[in-house]
Amino acid sequence: MKQLGDILIDSLKFAREGRHLVGEVPVHSLQRLVDVLADDEGTLAWNAAGKRDAENKLFLVIEVSGELHLKCQRCLAALAFQMKIRSNLQLVAPGAAWPDEGLEDDRADPIEALEEQSLLSLVEDEVLLALPIAPRHGFCSLPGYSRESAPASPFSALSLLKKH
Ligand SMILES: [Zn+2]
Repeated sequence: MKQLGDILIDSLKFAREGRHLVGEVPVHSLQRLVDVLADDEGTLAWNAAGKRDAENKLFLVIEVSGELHLKCQRCLAALAFQMKIRSNLQLVAPGAAWPDEGLEDDRADPIEALEEQSLLSLVEDEVLLALPIAPRHGFCSLPGYSRESAPASPFSALSLLKKH
């Protein structure tokens, strides 16, 4: 199994030559995910392909799949989340004009082309973008929460505050 962290690609060359790499990355090596995970078990499978379109534009197509255990924002327990990403990244050469907002291809996100692009960081970027903003179970409750301990209404809580 390849260790993704070790793979640096020249992204323009990779795309021009239509290269293709696949591998797996242990979830615990995706450091920027630490805060949103309940645990870092498991691995994600990734697939990186270089592509050149009819207009000679160069792309990296990044696919990531696997399961993450996100932290539920309500009960803080683990919430299984199936990743299935396919991102089309348009490479913008250093010094080249950035695609105009309006003219941008909706199916592609522009990124700066690097001579030493880490695939790990690209995969991590795409995973972060694909995460739900506030992951929650369909049905769960706050830890230690019960109806008895909650204030009867927001107004009774307010009147308590006013006394101080
Ligand atoms: Zn929950």
